[in-house]
Amino acid sequence: MMVDFVSALEYNIIRHIELRITMKQVLKFKSKKKHYKADVCLVWCFDDRFTGLLGELNKFGFKNVDLVKVAGGAMGLTGRGSAGNDNAINYIADQVEKSIKLHGTPLVILMVHTDCGAYKAIGLPVKGESEVELLREDLKSAKEELFRYLARKEHWPMIKTYLVDFEGLWEV
Ligand SMILES: [Zn+2]
Repeated sequence: MMVDFVSALEYNIIRHIELRITMKQVLKFKSKKKHYKADVCLVWCFDDRFTGLLGELNKFGFKNVDLVKVAGGAMGLTGRGSAGNDNAINYIADQVEKSIKLHGTPLVILMVHTDCGAYKAIGLPVKGESEVELLREDLKSAKEELFRYLARKEHWPMIKTYLVDFEGLWEV
């Protein structure tokens, strides 16, 4: 018995050393271990041209942000571009729900933006006023879809919708 115990212990030590020596640390950084309550869950397009603006949202006083960064942002909640299935809707809504469950998030922000590649990819390269109209309609239906999904799970966060263009952020 003793022999078995020692060999199991030795095995674990050797395994631990093996795992460590076959990995190379390429960055040193101390991340905070403490859990947090999120101020907001943001559904944002991954278009890097708007990452700077995303950083500016700290001005609203957000300290802890759960970020869902996907192509098209809130467009995915409208079912557009998901080829007739609702995987995109469910994926994004599920991410928001996880934020609420894990971090007690009271506020969800949904974003779409002008000149979005996700819209172009599905043949909607609209411009000018009709683009703004389309984006506003999508924000409305994305909000309704998310509200319905979360209500079924008995979550009732505040949901705000924003249109982004190259001049800034517009509440809709
Ligand atoms: Zn985009």
